[in-house]
Amino acid sequence: MKKVLIVTGGGRGIGAAIARLAAADGYAVCLSYLSNQAAADELVASIAAKGGVALAVQADVAVEQDVVRLFGQVDASLGRVTALVNNAGILERQGRVEDMDAARIGRIFATNVIGSFICAREAIRRMSTRHGGAGGAIVNLSSRASRLGAPGEYVDYAASKGAIDTFTVGLAKEVAAEGIRVNAVSPGVIYTDIHASGGEPGRVERVKDAIPMRRGGTAEEVARAVLWLLSDAASYTTGASIDVAGGR
Ligand code: NAP
Repeated sequence: MKKVLIVTGGGRGIGAAIARLAAADGYAVCLSYLSNQAAADELVASIAAKGGVALAVQADVAVEQDVVRLFGQVDASLGRVTALVNNAGILERQGRVEDMDAARIGRIFATNVIGSFICAREAIRRMSTRHGGAGGAIVNLSSRASRLGAPGEYVDYAASKGAIDTFTVGLAKEVAAEGIRVNAVSPGVIYTDIHASGGEPGRVERVKDAIPMRRGGTAEEVARAVLWLLSDAASYTTGASIDVAGGR
């Protein structure tokens, strides 16, 4: 069966590592991005140069119509989606709950939680045997923060990942008999640009001594766990979560 993957936020960071490994593994890959078209185009070109198939689509996962358009473009260009990675995620400036307003918390939940739900909805409509699909696999990017809580940094972000953990378990059970597996990966502290959005680009260096393995992780180390969960090697694994966090 042709393997078609959509990875949201696939132009940079962990999403880009997932797109790269998936393309090398024979998936036709659609990577979506929010605003950094240059990074997405560069990745598509580098995958194509290695003989892979990739497509970049601008789509804000927090905008329902963008998500519908994204999946429609994939139907037309690559074929029926068989794998989805809900990777697009944001955090905002480090701070305390007492200083957060509703607009900020709304932005975090709109992208991290509602975006993942709507992308999963579109995927299920194409994958589920109830809808004539051939099944598929979904992996959600959670975070170790969902259980650590991120106090003083971003409790809103951590809570959004707690929602992702529950979403993963509930959806996994809901579609298990329809050929779809749903799992999560919970990264610890990984070297990407996300920490700059929190106002501390060097955050990994600050916290790494408190990590049992005494180092931050790489995007590729996270991507390998995602690729395993998508693969047939994980055929009896659903509703599970894998920590990729150096023991944190
Ligand atoms: P990143 O380097 O900041 O990249 C985020 C990606 O998401 C970018 O490609 C960005 O698009 C895209 N994006 C952001 N908002 C979007 C939206 N509304 N619609 C579509 N795409 C959007 O982040 P990362 O560190 O790779 O994180 C990837 C995932 O892993 C996130 O869910 C994050 O919460 C999770 N995670 C990361 C860490 C870590 O330490 N890095 C730890 C735990 C969990 P543009 O390129 O267009 O801006």
